[in-house]
Amino acid sequence: MAGVELSNVIKRYGDVQVIHGIDLGIEEGEFCVFVGPSGCGKSTLLRMIAGLEETTGGQITIGDRDVTREDPSQRGVAMVFQTYALYPHMTVAENMGFGLKMNGHPKAEITEKVAEASRILKLDTYLKRKPAALSGGQRQRVAIGRAIVRGPEVFLFDEPLSNLDAELRVEMRVEIARLHKEIGATMIYVTHDQVEAMTMADKIVVLRDGRIEQVGAPLDLYRDPDNRFVAGFIGSPSMNFLTGVVRGGAVEVPALGLTVAPAVTLPSEGSDVIVGLRPEHLVVGAGDALTVDLTEALGGVSYAYLSSATGEKLIVEERGDLRSSEGDRVGLTIEDRRVMLFDPRTEARLR
Ligand code: ADP
Ligand code: MG
Repeated sequence: MAGVELSNVIKRYGDVQVIHGIDLGIEEGEFCVFVGPSGCGKSTLLRMIAGLEETTGGQITIGDRDVTREDPSQRGVAMVFQTYALYPHMTVAENMGFGLKMNGHPKAEITEKVAEASRILKLDTYLKRKPAALSGGQRQRVAIGRAIVRGPEVFLFDEPLSNLDAELRVEMRVEIARLHKEIGATMIYVTHDQVEAMTMADKIVVLRDGRIEQVGAPLDLYRDPDNRFVAGFIGSPSMNFLTGVVRGGAVEVPALGLTVAPAVTLPSEGSDVIVGLRPEHLVVGAGDALTVDLTEALGGVSYAYLSSATGEKLIVEERGDLRSSEGDRVGLTIEDRRVMLFDPRTEARLR
């Protein structure tokens, strides 16, 4: 096992810089998730740690070794990809042991390691099957098994669940979390799915355009985002953002016809602010500031899509049965302590 340290890591493709000086420490045994929208540089950064992509500038250390210029095979890492790329003519056991066989490991050792990995992954009874006779989830487990038998110090996953259907994704999410608990290795996991990030990570790294926006434990990012991007990215449905104006030591929110007074240092009288309100913190009540455009009842939870007379849109989450229906005029309330404010220019959180 080993931790991973990135210092001022930069990646350029020709003239185009895509990773802009990343500083990040990942502890030994930690489950770290890189999350961010498509194209933000998650895969590039992971592939640089794996050694599959050359590092243009900065330093990558694994354990206490500087691996920046080392070959992938020397780094003590194993990577699991979105596409499992199993050999169709080989059995599960042969697929898992193939890397070790190519590296000339003795047969008895390979058998032992494959048996251990298949026990961890509950693949024991499938060892003689070919990939064609496996479900998508089982194939992905074989791909993970291939990584386990190599006994890496660091596991790297690049969106490994994206090809699975929703139900299997949830199941594999739990499996990978369990795997992490059982083998305790350092894991770095890339996803664009904030729910995966929230449920699996010890530590989330939110990336945007090749830069880190914020690093933190899942609930810390949810409760205490540093900026509008992180506030909007973490949480589902996303946080609502409305315009507000500072008046008399509080913030008027014209869309809601409300004044809110969160305990933050406000900018000067008359300044514009962005008001962030999570759908799950808004409460529908009497009033006529908003119109219900659409409702979705999912059973345990319902969503109401509202628009204001000022032309702003927002979503409200209601527990249990929906209290509002399409076409209703309603008002909204929220506790002051739930309200977040952001600077409209820098998008930084006001604290
Ligand atoms: P993500 O995995 O977060 O979706 P990537 O790491 O794949 O994003 O890509 C980050 C950025 O680097 C994107 O703008 C992408 O177009 C660019 N990029 C990735 N690979 C190459 C390449 N081989 N040549 C040029 N640009 C690349
Ligand atoms: Mg990617």
